[in-house]
Amino acid sequence: MTSLARLLSDHANRERDPIDNPLLPAWGYSICNHGTRSKNSYLHEGLPWGTVSAEILQPSKKVFWYAYGWPCGQQPEYSDQLFQENSWGKFVPFGFTDGESAEQDTTVLTTIDGEITPFGLQNQTDQQPATANVS
Ligand SMILES: [Zn+2]
Repeated sequence: MTSLARLLSDHANRERDPIDNPLLPAWGYSICNHGTRSKNSYLHEGLPWGTVSAEILQPSKKVFWYAYGWPCGQQPEYSDQLFQENSWGKFVPFGFTDGESAEQDTTVLTTIDGEITPFGLQNQTDQQPATANVS
């Protein structure tokens, strides 16, 4: 699990300025993408692009590993990097079922601010969270 967490926390080319990205301006270049316009304000029509969260599915163990925010756990540099101030910096394991219950097709594990819901707490597994330990 740690190797997948490390992969999703990759910062290759992080030194490049996201504004220069020809595909989507303000979109960073790494997998753990800290997209920014280097501003503390933003226009809705000009939002930067970047990683919001990261997920790993482990079907053999029926575990959904979820990292709210950037999986690297670094703090945002600018306020246009939305929701990153609460990044967990680790993958938290949640159990899931085979989907036998058709009535419950949506589960809410966290709030939009990254707080784990009571349902999420009930479904956390006893496995240790996975971290990438990146710089
Ligand atoms: Zn990162």
